[in-house]
Amino acid sequence: QARNPGELEFHQAAKEIFDSLVPVFAKHPKYMESGILERISEPERLITFRVPWVDDQGKVRVNRGFRVQYSSAIGPYKGGIRFHPSVNASIIKFLGFEQIFKNALTGQPIGGGKGGSDFDPKGKSDGEIMRFTQSFMTELCKYIGPDVDVPAGDIGVGAREIGYMFGQYKRIRGGYEAGVLTGKGVGYGGSLGRTEATGYGVVYFVEEMLKDKGLSLKGQTVVVSGSGNVSIYAMEKAMQLGASVLACSDSNGYIYDRRGIDLATVKRLKEVERKRIRDYVLEHPHAEYHEGCAGIWSIPCDIALPCATQNELDDRSAKTLVANGVKAVAEGANMPSTLEAIEVFLEHGILFGPGKAANAGGVSVSALEMAQNSMRLSWTFEEVDAKLHQIMASIYQSSMKAAREYGHPGNLVVGSNIAGFLKVADAMMVQGII
Ligand code: NDP
Repeated sequence: QARNPGELEFHQAAKEIFDSLVPVFAKHPKYMESGILERISEPERLITFRVPWVDDQGKVRVNRGFRVQYSSAIGPYKGGIRFHPSVNASIIKFLGFEQIFKNALTGQPIGGGKGGSDFDPKGKSDGEIMRFTQSFMTELCKYIGPDVDVPAGDIGVGAREIGYMFGQYKRIRGGYEAGVLTGKGVGYGGSLGRTEATGYGVVYFVEEMLKDKGLSLKGQTVVVSGSGNVSIYAMEKAMQLGASVLACSDSNGYIYDRRGIDLATVKRLKEVERKRIRDYVLEHPHAEYHEGCAGIWSIPCDIALPCATQNELDDRSAKTLVANGVKAVAEGANMPSTLEAIEVFLEHGILFGPGKAANAGGVSVSALEMAQNSMRLSWTFEEVDAKLHQIMASIYQSSMKAAREYGHPGNLVVGSNIAGFLKVADAMMVQGII
């Protein structure tokens, strides 16, 4: 903490991982002796830069850009770009740190990175988004490349922003390096199934957790926070597998539809019209809209999927979910549950899928996009989806195995942290003190 003052989110992510690794260091002192923990928690590089742009009124604006290149032990840096006013060094470092272990867990050769800006895309015109994004890439392009660092989307960065970033990268660097970004449109090098990957992956992970208890998604009630990329496709897959999704939200409030959310309406409102979730009740007057986000966790459900943002689910909400009989919780967002909330779930024996494992489907399909770009071919949606399904099952199995081997059977927090860590640590051990 003395080394990284004020970086609360980064401290929180680091504490969760360090606590999980205690049995690893007890069993294998070699990792301690070679300073793996000190080295892995210091980013290889943290780049911050000025992003000047001109708004529609002709006024000059300045935002701050970030890219953390955290670990290249097992492959090129890989991780999304977030545009949100809350972005700062602590947020980028927590996300980049988590990404190292998540990426290792996928079994694919990708290192850990993350980036973003404190730019707020809300209320900006398309021209403003394009000018900002071009300015952001004008600086970022100096540090990335298909074999160096491959960014993707995250909060506030979807297909539109990736398109503008790709165009600007190409314009500055020349040539056609399709593999420099993932999450591209399918017409110019993107992978089928990438849009759906994180949300579908979360639900495939839940399926595995339930299967071990002899349960399935059929007939279960589900509450999903957020209504962005991860949330929408988690809802879609849960519905396809026979669950009933009762509620979702945005940063203003949540909707509760006892008849089951009409996903076509949510998709149109959020993906096409870029409106607020409250507009849902104008078309579905039987549904309820409530201001504020945390209240969504007071809705009784079998399965809770926090898919919006960090620290959106605290111990109070966790206790309410438990009291209402929740069976499983899986994190679509990164670090949506506070450390205290995780404690509540684990103490009460609730099936808990941490983000590092449960939301790894997005980066997994990003790595499949990189593979397709390298081979200059495209797989079908079904091929990508089958690979995603298999990767999620294998992440579940390797996390369960590590949890068992290190004395915490069934604890996927400990298991996923250990399984991801061991892969990176072993690569670092043979690469010298770097
Ligand atoms: P989007 O921007 O598509 O959607 C984010 C959703 O969360 C929106 O509904 C947004 O509401 C809501 N939200 C954002 N900030 C807050 C906040 N401070 N309080 C309450 N709600 C908020 O992002 P994604 O769906 O891509 O990302 C969601 C989460 O999933 C993030 O934690 C991200 O890091 C994680 N993730 C994403 C992956 C991906 O492939 N996209 C992969 C792995 C993890 P509003 O519209 O009002 O802003």
